[in-house]
Amino acid sequence: METKNNLPIWASIEITDICNLECPTCPRTEIIKRGDTLTGYLTTDKLDIIKSQLPDLKEIKFQGLGEPFLTPKAHEKFHYLKKLYPNTQVLSITNAAWKDNVEVEKILQNVDYLYISIDGHDYETFEKFRLKASFEQMVRNVKRIKKLAPKNLKISINSTFNNDTAADLYKCIILAKALGIDNIRFNLIQNWITESETDALKSKRRDFINNISLSKLETESLIASVRRMSDLAKLLNVKAQIIGNSDFKISDCHWGDKMMYMTQKGEILPCGMRCDPKYSFGNIFKTNIEEIWNSDKMVDFREMKKSDTPPKICMDCPYLVNSKILKLLNDTTSENLKSDFLYHKL
Ligand code: SF4
Ligand code: SF4
Repeated sequence: METKNNLPIWASIEITDICNLECPTCPRTEIIKRGDTLTGYLTTDKLDIIKSQLPDLKEIKFQGLGEPFLTPKAHEKFHYLKKLYPNTQVLSITNAAWKDNVEVEKILQNVDYLYISIDGHDYETFEKFRLKASFEQMVRNVKRIKKLAPKNLKISINSTFNNDTAADLYKCIILAKALGIDNIRFNLIQNWITESETDALKSKRRDFINNISLSKLETESLIASVRRMSDLAKLLNVKAQIIGNSDFKISDCHWGDKMMYMTQKGEILPCGMRCDPKYSFGNIFKTNIEEIWNSDKMVDFREMKKSDTPPKICMDCPYLVNSKILKLLNDTTSENLKSDFLYHKL
């Protein structure tokens, strides 16, 4: 039996679940529609509670199933978070598809790393995988971010690819260069909906994602495309990386141990891959995190992950599914592309 577990040092904290888009791969719509999460956002008094319970976080990813920059008075929340955690790295992410009235400059003052999430390389692919977004608006916003960003802010494009877009990875490098961003992190498409989900809408979405899964692609053409992208990146001085761990094992997963995922309502969930409140271990605004982190449910979850019978939701974990493809890419393409998804080693 596990002894008392240390509190997490890395946290993904959902600042809001309000979003302007309906990406076809994102389960947010089903989660919101089911009514167990209302669209909302963190207030400063809630941030005070988080700080009082988790004073020693080393890195905070201020993001969840929503668009952080659309949080009402977002800049105040970022400012307050940084005031509470002056020595903690703050990462955030944006779809950069909002209207011009977002107070970008003020938000960026209190971010250390910003990922701009662009899943596509042109009008067609971008607007297909970023439903309700406008490519032109995104381009305008990225240029604005670039212009207004403080010098110490590190910016990277995040680009998720699937079997529909994998052949054109090099075009993402051209787009990044045209936008003036010299860092790009490629993510392999992940299925956030487990095989154990029976809900009709979720099953439909799971099937949609399974259909564009990279495992359906011929390995030779994937390798060729990654090499083409890598060569062009080198030529244009763009730092390109493919994110993930090719040696990933469920027993080594840090979520629920050193890493924590929290919704804007305070629900503590298993991880960023399974971010449905129905998997909650408890609510930080009702129960102290120490109690949640050392509850029987949490201890069982950690122990099961280390055992031969992992929790159902982990059996088809996207990190595990993608590790085989990552291994193939690691073994056949440039060393320089390799990158774990965390900035901080745990
Ligand atoms: S922008 Fe993010 S939160 Fe919004 S629908 Fe797309 S993936 Fe989901
Ligand atoms: S689903 Fe994957 S990332 Fe999430 S807790 Fe299980 S093993 Fe870890």
